[in-house]
Amino acid sequence: MDFKLTPEQEALREEFESFFKTEMKNAPSEWWASHEAMFASDACWKFHTQMAKKLGAKGWLSRPWPKAYGGQDAPLIEQFIFSEVMGYYKGAGIDALGVNVLAPTLIASGNEEQKMEHLIPLGRGETFWCQCWSEPKAGSDLASLTTQAVRDGSNYIINGQKIWTTGAHRADWCNMLARTDPNEKRSRGLSFFLIDMKTPGITVNPLHAMDGTHLFNEVFFDDVRVPARNMVGEENQGWMASQMTSNYERSMIFMFSVCKREMEDLIEYCREPRPGGQLLIKDPLVRDRLAQLAIEIEAGRALAYSIVGVQSKGGLIEAAPLAAAAKVFATELLQRVVYTGNQIMGMYGQVKESRWAPLQGSFETNYQISIGFNFGGGTSEVMRNIVSSMGCGLPRSW
Ligand SMILES: Cc1cc2nc3c(=O)[nH]c(=O)nc-3n(C[C@H](O)[C@H](O)[C@H](O)COP(=O)(O)OP(=O)(O)OC[C@H]3O[C@@H](n4cnc5c(N)ncnc54)[C@H](O)[C@@H]3O)c2cc1C
Repeated sequence: MDFKLTPEQEALREEFESFFKTEMKNAPSEWWASHEAMFASDACWKFHTQMAKKLGAKGWLSRPWPKAYGGQDAPLIEQFIFSEVMGYYKGAGIDALGVNVLAPTLIASGNEEQKMEHLIPLGRGETFWCQCWSEPKAGSDLASLTTQAVRDGSNYIINGQKIWTTGAHRADWCNMLARTDPNEKRSRGLSFFLIDMKTPGITVNPLHAMDGTHLFNEVFFDDVRVPARNMVGEENQGWMASQMTSNYERSMIFMFSVCKREMEDLIEYCREPRPGGQLLIKDPLVRDRLAQLAIEIEAGRALAYSIVGVQSKGGLIEAAPLAAAAKVFATELLQRVVYTGNQIMGMYGQVKESRWAPLQGSFETNYQISIGFNFGGGTSEVMRNIVSSMGCGLPRSW
């Protein structure tokens, strides 16, 4: 694996860096307190949507997409560099569920009309998406979901409940999975829909987190009429469509980059004199813990580079267990970074919304939020199952 970027790629990185370094100075103060502030605070959401339009105008949201849909057919490594820079600067403006997840699905499985209708505004940073997949009794075992879609002329009528829908209270559209074959209990009877969140019959209820943050929602569908043309792929083939994001860069470089930035912020905190003149940075135990984090972050970055290398050579199947390993490693590493920060800060690490809160209280907030990253997008246990079966060749059951 050659870790060295070409001069063109280096120039691109510098362009991304200079943009985010300048623009992120305008972020509202709450932005720095939490990775999820964009959904919780009106000021952060406004900033996020403005940034999306700026990124869209530069063509940076759609770089890897085909030119016909506003993209530039850019190589995967360029998307990787962009994500690395975004993570480091805690950049705003990427609608992850739309740009990173839905767009590759549409490119692979959508029809021409759907691509033109949705990819163009997404690439311009004009629309924002959420993902209505999980249900109260269908999370890891998603294929058991029970929300029903019944054909009625040129529409489907949808009834059911979704849960843990990130950002549903902000989104313009959702992509959702519903059962179109009631006789089929597993993935074969599911279909994939694109739904305008303003459609009558949709109710979004907030699910406030323990710290009061509003990230999640319950979404209820009561006789929601969705045009049949909004189905992606064939009826009952929605599961296939939902799995078609494999050409998206899946290295978790964004999260490793977030870890690096958090660690650097923590080092800066340790350099500042504490009451009594004590310098944490001189404490051998503190130094030891920071060095350990630095080692793990570099190992994570190397893993991420190797994944994008495999993906760039077309090894999508080989990349799957590596991507699962990176998901476990990156999300658990973020926890270790924020846990370590909290231990180093002592009681101050638990303070927020106060002048005594170190680093705008970000370690306190992220201490709580980081646990959720082990679940969102597939739990650590499920990821380990993928590593053991696809990566190590162990039997799927015993
Ligand atoms: C931050 C965050 C954002 C999210 N955003 C969205 C969103 O936008 N849209 C959406 O639809 N959903 C979203 N989710 C929901 C997420 O997809 C589910 O939480 C996840 O799939 C797990 O489902 P569950 O919570 O029902 O847990 P369960 O599936 O009930 O799992 C409970 C425990 O059992 C373990 N377990 C389950 N099955 C196995 C197995 N086969 N082998 C070993 N262990 C197993 C799990 O690892 C877990 O520890 C989000 C969740 C989080 C935390």
